[in-house]
Parts: sequence; structure tokens; C-alpha cells
Amino acid sequence: MTRLLLIGPPGAGKGTQAALLAQRFSIPAISTGDIFRFNVKNQTPLGVEAKGYMDRGEYVPDSLTNALVRDRLSHEDAQKGFLLDGYPRTSDQTEELDDILRENNTKLDIVVQLTADTNELVRRLAHRAQVEGRADDTPEVIRHRLDVYEEQTAPLIDIYASRGLVAMIDGLGEIEDVTARIIESIEARGLHPDA
Ligand code: ADP
Repeated sequence: MTRLLLIGPPGAGKGTQAALLAQRFSIPAISTGDIFRFNVKNQTPLGVEAKGYMDRGEYVPDSLTNALVRDRLSHEDAQKGFLLDGYPRTSDQTEELDDILRENNTKLDIVVQLTADTNELVRRLAHRAQVEGRADDTPEVIRHRLDVYEEQTAPLIDIYASRGLVAMIDGLGEIEDVTARIIESIEARGLHPDA
């Protein structure tokens, strides 16, 4: 049973690591960004509502995001653990997640903070823009997303650090080396893939 969060700025490699870790720990990777993009692509009411915020590099309102995560965490596959990628991103979302976990009599095991310096983040996001063509990977929107992260999300790390939950992991280097660092720090806390 592993319940973990991945926190880090845009471009730190959260999505890539989330997929690898989820497989390794046999838990679902829940990415709010992926869920929003799926809804935008399929033009669902949620997607229509979220699109403008995403294209501008702003956060989708907490009310929508919290409802989405609350629903997703109630699914059967999330009862034995989960990895949240990109949630919570605001203090309101942090409180909502605390409430959800409390209602389920569970708690987080670890918060993995993925780091990378700003030049590397900008370089990776510019590269991704060429490969994937995401609407929010233009230079101005990238800058804005990095600012929004610093302002609204980076402070959450202190909250989790005060609970002794944060493992700071260097996100630079080969993908598999970063995964190995994360797994090492998870196992160092006595959490195991098969536990
Ligand atoms: P990145 O980490 O590169 O910014 P994501 O795929 O995690 O990319 O998120 C893309 C966009 O989706 C965000 O800029 C935001 O508009 C929206 N989003 C994702 N997660 C959240 C969240 N927890 N709260 C509000 N908006 C979110």
C-alpha cells in the first residue's frame, strides 16, 4: 500500500516518473493534467470549462479540480494506493486531499519533490513543445506556468516537510537514474512495492 505525491515544477519530469513508479508499485498514476487534457480533447463539459485556464497557463479552479480528484480517488483501483501527479497544487487542494484521506482513514506515505534548475526546465519544455505541440508550451505560457508554480505550489512543500513527508530528489540525469533515486528513497522509508 503506497500513497504518494509527486510535486515539482513544469518540466521536472513528473509525468514520466509517475508512469514508471505506478508500474513498479502496482498503483494507479493519477495525473490531473492528463485527465484535464483528455476532457479537453473530448470536449466534455469539464474540458470546455478547463481549456481556457490551461491554455493561459493558469490553474483550473479548485472547485473543479477537487471534485475531479475526489471522484477519481473513490474508484476501486485507488483503494490500495495511488500516485498523484500534479495534485495538490494549491493550499485549498491540500486541505481537500487531507479531508479525503481523513474520511478514508488513510494518510500519505511520502511526498516526492522533483527538482531541476530553471534553465533545464525551460529547455525541456521548449523541446516538448516541438515534439508534442501542447497548447500551453509556448514561451510566454511556460514562463507564466513556472511563476504560478513558484507562487502557489512551491509553498506546499513546506507544509508536507513539516509533517516529515518530503523526499527531495534531483530530477537531472537519465530517466532510469532518477527513477532509481526515487525508489531508493521510498524504500528507505520502509515502503516496498509488494507491501
Ligand atoms: P505541467 O506540470 O507541465 O504544468 P500538467 O500536465 O501537470 O503540466 O498540467 C497542465 C495544466 O493542467 C496546468 O497548467 C493547469 O492548467 C491544469 N492542472 C493540472 N493539475 C492541476 C491542479 N491540480 N490544479 C489546477 N489546475 C491543474
